[in-house]
Amino acid sequence: MKTILVIEDERDLLDLVAFNLEREGYRVLTALDGKDGLETARTRTPDLIILDLMLPGLMGTDICRILKNSDKTSNIPIIMLTAKGEEIDRVVGFEVGADDYVVKPFSNRELMLRIRAILRRSEPDVKDEKILRIGSITIDTGRHIVTSAGEDVVLTTTEYKLLLNLAERLGRVQNRDLLLKNVWGYNYIGDTRTVDTHITRLRTKLGSAGDMIKTVRGFGYKMEES
Ligand code: CA
Repeated sequence: MKTILVIEDERDLLDLVAFNLEREGYRVLTALDGKDGLETARTRTPDLIILDLMLPGLMGTDICRILKNSDKTSNIPIIMLTAKGEEIDRVVGFEVGADDYVVKPFSNRELMLRIRAILRRSEPDVKDEKILRIGSITIDTGRHIVTSAGEDVVLTTTEYKLLLNLAERLGRVQNRDLLLKNVWGYNYIGDTRTVDTHITRLRTKLGSAGDMIKTVRGFGYKMEES
């Protein structure tokens, strides 16, 4: 049974989301404010977090940043609940680093589809265990460990999947729609800016090895050994 933590200060929405999650068979933890939410995330390490952007005290963006920068919690996928479209670049981008977002008001079906897609891609694929070496990057697919020039690189689940997708198809251009499908899941109804912001973040984390991820103007991305 997967555990999902919902951090949302609107009591009615929190109760509704928790009710729907329990009906889908998830174990649910809830928090009405950021401080409590952060504490629960750290002590209970849930399988996924649904995090409201606008929270009293500690903002959703702050919580996301803190969790994504801590070794213990950086692997927990975070779906951000946002109210405004213009926040999206920031939320899934380098600054905050959420794995996905849902814009309020959202349907229960939409939220469940996103959750299922994210939980599915965060499950390790045991049958495909191997070590990939591309330039100074090493990807251990069994242990989900990435190193760049011998240094560990802490990646979120989404960034890891994105890197693996490019690395496994070395030299081949992949368009944004294909990456959305392969990394974010078939049912993902997102826009392709999500791909761009995650690529930027991934490149930065890889340091100089990030240059191996090439932008193919007007089409997408490819990885080339340098
Ligand atoms: Ca709120």
